[in-house]
Amino acid sequence: MSTRNFVGIRLERKKEASLLNWNLKRPYTPERVRISLPATAYPCVHVGNNVQTGQKIADPVGPGCATVHSSMEGVIEKIAIFPDATGGESMTVEVRRQGDPKAPATFENVRKNWEILKEEELLDIFQNSGIVTTDALMQPVHAKIKKNEQHPTLIINGCEPEPYVTCEQVLAMAHPLEILKGAEILKKTTRANQILFVFEDCNLELVELFKSKIYFLKWEHVKVRTVPAVYPQGHETTLLQRWFSGKEDQAIVFPASTAFAVYEAVVHQKPFYERVLTVGGECVIEPRSLWLPLGISFRDAIHTCKGVMREPQKVIMGGPMAGTAQENLEVSVMAGTNAILALPKEVIRDKAEEPCIRCGACVDMCPVSLSPAMITLAAEHGEFELAEKWDVSACIECGNCSYVCPSKRPMLKWIRKAQAEMAQTALPKSQKNHEYAS
Ligand code: SF4
Ligand code: SF4
Repeated sequence: MSTRNFVGIRLERKKEASLLNWNLKRPYTPERVRISLPATAYPCVHVGNNVQTGQKIADPVGPGCATVHSSMEGVIEKIAIFPDATGGESMTVEVRRQGDPKAPATFENVRKNWEILKEEELLDIFQNSGIVTTDALMQPVHAKIKKNEQHPTLIINGCEPEPYVTCEQVLAMAHPLEILKGAEILKKTTRANQILFVFEDCNLELVELFKSKIYFLKWEHVKVRTVPAVYPQGHETTLLQRWFSGKEDQAIVFPASTAFAVYEAVVHQKPFYERVLTVGGECVIEPRSLWLPLGISFRDAIHTCKGVMREPQKVIMGGPMAGTAQENLEVSVMAGTNAILALPKEVIRDKAEEPCIRCGACVDMCPVSLSPAMITLAAEHGEFELAEKWDVSACIECGNCSYVCPSKRPMLKWIRKAQAEMAQTALPKSQKNHEYAS
């Protein structure tokens, strides 16, 4: 992958509305949750079983996989394949609430001697607590760490370059100390020498908050850095390019919310079953970032923000640049769902797709120097291996190519199709969870 000096696109941020509601509310439990299992986890519960919040519902199929937990107390209603919010389908465990809505469970007990836990013990806690990265890749954290012996630098990423999305910012403002402690725990397991906290340069309040906490903690190995507030600066790949020439053995990157999940799992023994995400867009009555259980439907998630004031033209999982449009609001929040956006017609401005005119704009705007036009042409014709020859797996799914294409070609759709096909081809047969579905 080349490291051409691409800066990014300055987008309208549109974050003000969801930042009006700073308090991180945790709504009462929904009627049901549908928890999508990764292809690398196998259900360990049966229909009719009672489960508690945080109880294990799926075992990992191998050492590089993580367990999955129920995000709500209730009864297992179904174990079946359902469409998921990535546009595919996955084995899903449905938990139905019994009785009235309840306040969400809390995990406040402090684990004894958590400060002196050893590296291997911490990695086991990550795996058994089901911690996966809170980005689109949803990688088990212990497996990501184990890829390299040592990562000299640990980057904690607090950037959110996508418009509307504010969940990392709100969580970081509310819980800076917990995120700093989570980062220290990650430092131990990654054997890093230093920690870089990265924020966008427009988030000065956050930058100063973290600098002051670090100053009072006297942690000289922790620094705060900023990147320009342009898209897709702040993406893991662009951070590695910026400071480490893209070398993954020099630094490891985790979102700030993943550091928070690590803190909760290690200190409060809380499995990873909920996350903060932004429910927003012009159609939502009370846009905000809030805690929601994994598996809550998009419909219920929007309902917790008082519903919509007008019919959205499109509902998207993620930001408007790299997000996935949803046909069906019964799909569920996943570990990597950072936003649900209900957007009106004037924002979407749908235009009919036209043939590629070979303008080259997508090539100029690709932050990792790919040829998006060639990749998508190959994928469109079902030639996925040819797409791979054009390096589709290096795509960071930023959506810049779709954004600038004058022919409005659905580039991301075809890129994701090609990536999914290549991943499915690479997966060992035992790890394709659709094959054990009855
Ligand atoms: S989505 Fe398009 S612009 Fe972004 S990295 Fe992939 S090919 Fe390049
Ligand atoms: S931006 Fe669109 S029209 Fe231009 S080369 Fe790329 S795919 Fe073709």
